[in-house]
Amino acid sequence: MSAAGSTGSDGPAGFARVIPELTLDKTFDYAIPAGWIGRLQPGHRVRVPFGPRKILAYVVDLVGTPEVAACKEIEGVTEEEPLLPPSLLGLARWLADYYCSDLPTALRIMLPEPVRSKPDGHLERLWVQVPDGLTEEEAAERLKRAKSQWRAWQAAKAAGGGWLADLCRETGLGAAAWKGLAEKGLIHLGRQRRERIPFRGAVVADPALALNPAQAGALEVIVSGLGQPGPHAPILLQGVTGSGKTEVYLQALARCLELGQSGLVLVPEIALTPQTIGRFRERFEGAGIGLAVLHSRLSAGERHDQWHRVRTGRARIVIGARSAVFAPIRDLGLVVVDEEHEPSYKQEETPFYHARDLAVVRARREGAVVVLGSATPSLESAWNARQGKYRLVRLPERIDGAELPVIHVVDLRKERKKRPGSFWLTRPLCDAVQDRAKRKEQSLLYLNRRGFATSVQCENCGHVEMCPHCSVPLTFHKTRGQLRCHLCDYVAPIARTCPKCGFDQRGLVGAGTQRIEEVVAEALPGLRWKRVDSDSMGGRDTLEETLGEFAAGKLDLLIGTQMIAKGLHLPGVTCVGIISVDAALNLPDFRASERVFQQIVQVAGRAGRGGVTGEVFIQTHTPFHPAISFGRHHDVDGFIDQELEYRREFGYPPFRRAILVTFRGPGEAKTLWCAEQAVKALTAVVPAGVEVGEVAPAPVAKWKDAFRFQTLIKTGSVREVLPHLRRHVAGVTWPEGVMVTINVDPINLM
Ligand code: ADP
Ligand code: ZN
Repeated sequence: MSAAGSTGSDGPAGFARVIPELTLDKTFDYAIPAGWIGRLQPGHRVRVPFGPRKILAYVVDLVGTPEVAACKEIEGVTEEEPLLPPSLLGLARWLADYYCSDLPTALRIMLPEPVRSKPDGHLERLWVQVPDGLTEEEAAERLKRAKSQWRAWQAAKAAGGGWLADLCRETGLGAAAWKGLAEKGLIHLGRQRRERIPFRGAVVADPALALNPAQAGALEVIVSGLGQPGPHAPILLQGVTGSGKTEVYLQALARCLELGQSGLVLVPEIALTPQTIGRFRERFEGAGIGLAVLHSRLSAGERHDQWHRVRTGRARIVIGARSAVFAPIRDLGLVVVDEEHEPSYKQEETPFYHARDLAVVRARREGAVVVLGSATPSLESAWNARQGKYRLVRLPERIDGAELPVIHVVDLRKERKKRPGSFWLTRPLCDAVQDRAKRKEQSLLYLNRRGFATSVQCENCGHVEMCPHCSVPLTFHKTRGQLRCHLCDYVAPIARTCPKCGFDQRGLVGAGTQRIEEVVAEALPGLRWKRVDSDSMGGRDTLEETLGEFAAGKLDLLIGTQMIAKGLHLPGVTCVGIISVDAALNLPDFRASERVFQQIVQVAGRAGRGGVTGEVFIQTHTPFHPAISFGRHHDVDGFIDQELEYRREFGYPPFRRAILVTFRGPGEAKTLWCAEQAVKALTAVVPAGVEVGEVAPAPVAKWKDAFRFQTLIKTGSVREVLPHLRRHVAGVTWPEGVMVTINVDPINLM
């Protein structure tokens, strides 16, 4: 092909700039084959010769003149349509820039691994078809000497044909049996497209509900923007738990579909339960609309197939967790981010993106409407609404008119003095659980820590058993008699005596769910309960089973971590105990208070949904902390007002933006030195008004044998700091294995 040297101004560009395999941050130019000129676009995936190998590469640009004159030609294009819609390529560029990352990294997180490694074609599966005309007797006659082929033929005939893989599984026969039959011409074996679907069974169609006036008002605001050219101001839907936000999303999505567009719903991973998925399936699949689900528990095959279902428009509603914000939807009309305040929307590793923020950016770029829903909005979103950047819509009441639960605060300082023994389960909470059980009502006890004790301390010398690889105490797991590190999974047997002084009495400090279990067994004999945390629940099936038993009234109580706090609809629950909020309140993080407040209100939202007023108990040493005093009155706006004042005073987000730079390395002194060099360099160049904080050990100062130092940068504008960060931090090769991460808009300061 001799298009080399064309300027690109006359006629379509003849060269494609590609990133090979998304590993290097480097582009290479290839000539476009004649048949693809004018058709090949950025976002297409191609097969190219690369040194001695043939590899997959991603087109990111078209150019008239290549960087090197002698460039090779693209050998093939893997899909007719670009693998990545152009809008997503644009979003990848935005992400790489804003989060101080690079384009290959951004594309890697956008394209799930199973999609990157396999062209779409591998969806084809073998399908067995049994031709009419051959009677059972004739077949038996011909297969006299081939026993397994005869069984294979019978099975296929009885089933009226089917997927080869299914027939193998059902009969226990190998594929060779059917292949033999096909060779004899007794069956037909063909290839067909088959999708691996992560959910089973048909659903019963669920019609739309008649909305109450508040819901109707919210729906009106959302749909008024649909189908209109954007950009639209994001909508913050602030509705108390159980106010029917989901029904509003469902009806808005239906309207979006009527307009010929597609919808995307993000929910926190932990809330992506079969219950939630079921609700969306009933509404949309029930009406014949394809739905795709994207989350981390899918198998590689399921993820691959779901992704391509979305890309090809066979699924027009996508529901998923954080990374679903990159779903390859082409005609995006509406994006919903449910529980927008959830910290799990933030990816806690490079490139540290925030899915809610990307949802807002993506919607703006694609002219879509975006709705952020929550009972307890993040301070960022609340502030945007107060400034008029977001449009605030409220759902002030629960659907069934049920009262919000009564919240009791139990002062542990007093309880401890009154009854020293009943510290983890105080008398008021214990009595309430008992009472509810007598009335055939159910309770939850919530503690966001698994294991038995948070640490083990010698009662003689005070020595606390620490992880040898991380600067955190080891958690005691009584069921296995082990000490375990919750950061690196280091496991050690518990020694009989203190390793430091030899004393044989060790105190168990703090509590995890296993300890609560023991306290409950002792204090509430006869009560039927189960523990729900990632140690006790093997997979999603066990969780489903336990929830099933609970829903059927076979249990009085669940004891658990956040696994029971989010997204579950448990109508029988009328009493919730929060064992302790103190550890969470004392974290060295300016968002600690916001987190605890949100937890209280969300957990309280689990109580009394079924027509009976619920009650909630919060056990704490600091009953007058604002997170608790506002939480107990369900006073979301009051809390936001006060917290905004505090943030303003100390120059924290949302008033200023934060960037957390963390250095980690095998040597403590060298790591500290690198961090100090960076801070010195940055301080010298950043514009006035940007504060580069002093270097300090990270709250977790050692993690998996790496020492960690960090600096928090506070600035009016992230973009103002980015070029300096690239130059003096990200772009520097630090010595002696020291690595650096840049976390723009950090959510977790650990
Ligand atoms: P939220 O998402 O705000 O917590 P949900 O959407 O889960 O609330 O609604 C709580 C319950 O109320 C659900 O069982 C839902 O089916 C029901 N519901 C929602 N809207 C209505 C309505 N307009 N009429 C009757 N029931 C409704
Ligand atoms: Zn560890």
